[in-house]
Amino acid sequence: MNPTIERENRYSAHNYHPLPVVLVRGEAAYVWDDAGKRYLDMMSAYSAVSHGHAHPRLVGVLAEQAARLGIASRAFHSDRLAPFLERACELTGQESALPMNTGAEAVETAMKAARKWAYDVKGVPAGRAEIIAARGNFHGRTIAIVGMSSDPGYREGFGPFPPGLAVIPYGDARALEAAIQPHTAAFLVEPIQGEGGIVVPPPGYLAACAEICRRHRVLLICDEIQTGLGRTGKLLAAEHDSVKPDGLVLGKALGGGLLPVSLFLARREVMDVFEPGNHGSTFGGNPLAAAVGLEALNVIVDERLVERSAESGRYFMTALQRLDSPLIVEVRGKGLFIGIEIDPARASARTVCERLMDRGLLSKETHKTVVRLAPPLAIGREQLDWAIEQIRATLAELEEPRERPAATGGIR
Ligand SMILES: *Cc1c(COP(=O)(O)O)cnc(C)c1O
Repeated sequence: MNPTIERENRYSAHNYHPLPVVLVRGEAAYVWDDAGKRYLDMMSAYSAVSHGHAHPRLVGVLAEQAARLGIASRAFHSDRLAPFLERACELTGQESALPMNTGAEAVETAMKAARKWAYDVKGVPAGRAEIIAARGNFHGRTIAIVGMSSDPGYREGFGPFPPGLAVIPYGDARALEAAIQPHTAAFLVEPIQGEGGIVVPPPGYLAACAEICRRHRVLLICDEIQTGLGRTGKLLAAEHDSVKPDGLVLGKALGGGLLPVSLFLARREVMDVFEPGNHGSTFGGNPLAAAVGLEALNVIVDERLVERSAESGRYFMTALQRLDSPLIVEVRGKGLFIGIEIDPARASARTVCERLMDRGLLSKETHKTVVRLAPPLAIGREQLDWAIEQIRATLAELEEPRERPAATGGIR
């Protein structure tokens, strides 16, 4: 085994099961391993690297700001925060923003805002506010968040969980309407479920949810940590349904592939439940993160990354749907957010990813049966054509009589 991997296994917690490759360098859509082999990155660190690796403008801003003022804390103002929040509000159509670092922190912020809004504004009796989430969701790893998860793997052994959390089927607006009670504060939902397996709800689902939420005075909060900032061919995936949510959570690509940067954005009426002292983060909104976050937003606009995601996504999706393989159950997604569902009786998604890796294409399975394809948004036509050929060849290879089914894993 690679000595670096062996060493990591000895000292690291084993909370991940990475593909056996040690990455040492990245540039645009490519990464290189410790033996100098090049790979096309179709994983983009779960969409954190939508801008591509080591984007020169982002690296430039990072270095410049790091040398000037890195961390100031919110005990003082910095000259970097206002321009970042202003641009984020402008682009998303929201009125205000609260900066955090990781996605989970911004989701927690949204949940706190929703609960306090329910008490202060909606008039829900103290201690009764409820947040509804959708089955198959992924919103992060804190105890409150995994308390909303329907995945035993995320939950088991971590309880007890906070009360006031409910889970309903995803993609079914009537289930939302049935679940809403007088003390419901918010419906928290991903416009397309990412970790759940690139699950695209029926057309009009989010618009119907928005209408139901409005009618019942419930906040619609969209977690666009993974779907946001161009990934699905719109700046925000909610735009596919012409929905502007009451609250919006961004992360991942907001850090330009360099830093953890997240935001909770909302209308003033919602955001104003926060007062000095009732919420915060030492690193949230620090000058380094704010400078990189602003540049990340500007690069998306200047390089037309949203339009490119839409165009490349259409091309890639069409080509993948034309692949005639008995291993494929379904190809689905929007923009450059694509999942190939693999028939588990024929191969595990993990095996497909391992074979793709051998061919120089990096991806990762999600939920055992789905191969996720989410490259940096500026990926070129030639790179996509090359990827399609590797996927075609890999699936053809795996069509052969099932070898060593026990060793391929993931088949239950
Ligand atoms: C990744 C992700 C999160 C959690 O973000 P972290 O930065 O890992 O805490 C939350 N929601 C969605 C939809 C995500 O994809």
